[in-house]
Amino acid sequence: MEKLTALLNKQKAFKKPSTQERIRLLQNLKAVIKQHEEDILQALAHDLHKSAQEAYTTEIGMVYEEINHTMKHLHKWAKPTRVKTPLTHIGSKSMIIKEPYGSVLIMAPWNYPFQLAISPLVGAISAGNAVTLKPSELTPRVSQVIRTIVERAFKIDQAAVIEGGVDVSTALLKLPFDYIFFTGSVAVGKIVMEAAAKHLIPVTLELGGKSPCIVMPDADIKLAAKRITFGKFTNAGQTCIAPDYLLVHESVKEDLLREMMTCIHDFYGERPETQPHFGKIVSTRHFDRLSHFLTNGTIVTGGQRNEHELKIAPTILDHITWEDPVMQEEIFGPILPVMTFDSLDEVTEMVKARPKPLALYLFTTNKKTETYILDNLSFGGGCINDTLMHVATPYLPFGGVGESGMGRYHGKESFFTFTHEKSILRQTNRFDFSFRYPNAKNGLDIIRTFLK
Ligand code: NAD
Repeated sequence: MEKLTALLNKQKAFKKPSTQERIRLLQNLKAVIKQHEEDILQALAHDLHKSAQEAYTTEIGMVYEEINHTMKHLHKWAKPTRVKTPLTHIGSKSMIIKEPYGSVLIMAPWNYPFQLAISPLVGAISAGNAVTLKPSELTPRVSQVIRTIVERAFKIDQAAVIEGGVDVSTALLKLPFDYIFFTGSVAVGKIVMEAAAKHLIPVTLELGGKSPCIVMPDADIKLAAKRITFGKFTNAGQTCIAPDYLLVHESVKEDLLREMMTCIHDFYGERPETQPHFGKIVSTRHFDRLSHFLTNGTIVTGGQRNEHELKIAPTILDHITWEDPVMQEEIFGPILPVMTFDSLDEVTEMVKARPKPLALYLFTTNKKTETYILDNLSFGGGCINDTLMHVATPYLPFGGVGESGMGRYHGKESFFTFTHEKSILRQTNRFDFSFRYPNAKNGLDIIRTFLK
């Protein structure tokens, strides 16, 4: 604990870097990541059996995008902004200064262990903060590489990595950081927010939940099947924004499931659970939890398990009801339960009866259906006629709403998430209106002419 407190004190004393210095820090971070690309890929293959293509796209490439975008726009975001001043304040000028919060704690999960640790780090550094980063203990090889990279790219008072499990997280959460950025489960999100409340620390909570995927009869079924298969089974379904369950119109269910089975075969081959680059489930605990779901409903395809390698073949479960265990919690694995509907009202009713999801996917070619869903359902973000892709652009803020989280990041939003906007009014000394003072004659009458 003393070590952690000493580190925090050092980081609190850290002198705010200029915008130019921050750009240099980011440039240097990118260069160090480049030097360690092979280590990152190997660590991701070791901890999660990610293929090089998947790992590069979803972990390393996304981080490069985030760094490039931030470096390009940082001067514009970071400079003070002039804003208007109302008539009542005549003679004065108003501006907003972008101030770093100071010391930031970032806690990361294991499913995209590199990207979900480094992307928020980029935001926090761009805003001029010092960072303590706690990667997930469930992906230890990646965590080690992150540590090496951060140690090479930053001085300890700028950014440091603290490795460890729940005990270390608990100790960190006792400290008076100036900001906490947490990515993980809803349950731990509540623990984080409670701890933060003790010091009134502002938080961003990037959480999870059950994200629906809705398929209408007018959808392009072949394309929908391909994109849903991709979104669900990437990283063996261990993606916070993966379609958690399928709500498909009764009339197109058979077609869609048939097409999805073809896609699963095309993407992952004959026995995915034996393929070296089909993602593994992160731990035995998670593997056992997912295995129990395989007895729900009827297996349309998949269901094979590889206990030795902790792999489960891409599985589709039909004849599922809301009462089944697989519908009681976020699945976070390669299992897709299927339910059907007859009318759009049924869809909105079902989704609204549950916590607001992190993502929602709608497959339709009807603009009216699109508007109806977007107007009637609240969720973090999502796609029309695709899955996952909204997360991979620096132009769209990413985050949840309600139980799926609070706050947002990526691109400009990352900078502003880690920035306190300090409002300043600079008053003139050349004149002074006396009507605001308590002894002013007719003060109230004059004020009434302005404020009515
Ligand atoms: P988790 O909540 O178990 O762990 C996240 C972090 O919290 C880890 O660093 C862990 O060490 C720490 N932690 C765990 N238990 C703790 C406790 N009792 N007290 C304090 N700290 C604790 O989450 P996970 O299993 O790593 O990740 C899976 C969850 O994260 C899923 O729910 C998923 O949807 C969500 N997720 C959300 C996003 C997003 O961007 N919204 C991204 C990835 C994952």
